Amino acid sequence: MTTVGILGGGQLARMLALSGAPLGLRFLVMDTADDACAGQFAPLLVGDYRDERALAEFAGRVDVATFDFENVPAASARWLSERVPVFPNPDALALSQDRLAEKTLFRELDIPVPDFADVATREALDAAVQRIGTPCILKTRRLGYDGKGQFRIRTPADVEAAWQALGAQAEAVGLILEGFVAFERELSVVAVRGRDGEFRAWPLTENWHVDGVLSASLAPAQVDAALQATAIAHARALAERLDYVGVFALELFCRNGELLANELAPRVHNSGHWSIEGSETSQFENHLRAVLGLPLGDPAMRGHACMLNWIGEMPDAAPVLSTSGGHWHDYGKQPRAGRKVGHATLRTDDPATLAQRLIDVGAALNRQAQVAPVVARLREA
Ligand code: ATP
Ligand code: MG
Ligand code: MG
Repeated sequence: MTTVGILGGGQLARMLALSGAPLGLRFLVMDTADDACAGQFAPLLVGDYRDERALAEFAGRVDVATFDFENVPAASARWLSERVPVFPNPDALALSQDRLAEKTLFRELDIPVPDFADVATREALDAAVQRIGTPCILKTRRLGYDGKGQFRIRTPADVEAAWQALGAQAEAVGLILEGFVAFERELSVVAVRGRDGEFRAWPLTENWHVDGVLSASLAPAQVDAALQATAIAHARALAERLDYVGVFALELFCRNGELLANELAPRVHNSGHWSIEGSETSQFENHLRAVLGLPLGDPAMRGHACMLNWIGEMPDAAPVLSTSGGHWHDYGKQPRAGRKVGHATLRTDDPATLAQRLIDVGAALNRQAQVAPVVARLREA
């Protein structure tokens, strides 16, 4: 019996454990919180990722280790990798934890990126705003997620407020200034690379964010074949350079028909949740197959899928459950403002039916604004 260890016990670990059950896998999840939601399905080891005793216990109980949480300290991942196979490798994890290193690598691989500058001091911020222009966005280099650790600079008058908000973190986690991209769309490539180098990608997904948090995803994204091929080629180049094993997501902006890379998420990704019901093999199953060195499954889609995130609290399940092709995921978390507590996926054979079901579900749940941009995109086709 193989035991997969997962660092981090949130909904990603939970869905990994659920998808691993048919494969006969066991899991051990490590998290700092004793109520981590993956603990409802897998043994939970409560401990700090920096604590060698906890890590040693974890290493002793698993055959292979992977991540649900991308901000596990790289040093902990390295320590662990000397005792048990760890995928993705700690260097790939470390790179994707630093927005500056990540964007520098994108450039090296000829993957276009928004303008960016390292910001260590207030003077450097002034100079960077001068060079990049406004609007722009100041971000922490490390430890940001769900749009946290970001400040939008609309005009030069906002620079002082931006420094007040984030300047204190310049030393500990670093700061980066990025040009604000007036994109037409946000897209992501979710892809997987096996231990033997085999590479597969799901169809491109279009994503909508509200306040920096993913709100809805549509797959396949309604883009032409050339754009899709370019996006997947970027993802492949990154995976090969990093000798990446497992699932990852490359987040992209599309502006004037051109792709600009935003960030690499070194794990299964929220924009791939639709693959549970919408594709032949889900991102969760393929991640497990990859880290275990098993043959990868086919990521081909079955029709059209839209995922809606539930943030803060779960809505009524009945309208989705009573919709043909409607699927419900409740992460078993306590409600809390801004927290991802669940999602729904609607899957249909054709885009027109998907648009109608989204309208119906949106009305029943009073989530018209959440479904509206997806419906508009489907109706453009
Ligand atoms: P997560 O890891 O949860 O995706 P994050 O905190 O790492 O989020 P980003 O992905 O950098 O943050 O930003 C969150 C969202 O904010 C993006 O998906 C995008 O909608 C918007 N955003 C970020 N950077 C830019 C930019 N340079 N130009 C325009 N919009 C941006
Ligand atoms: Mg991120
Ligand atoms: Mg992001």
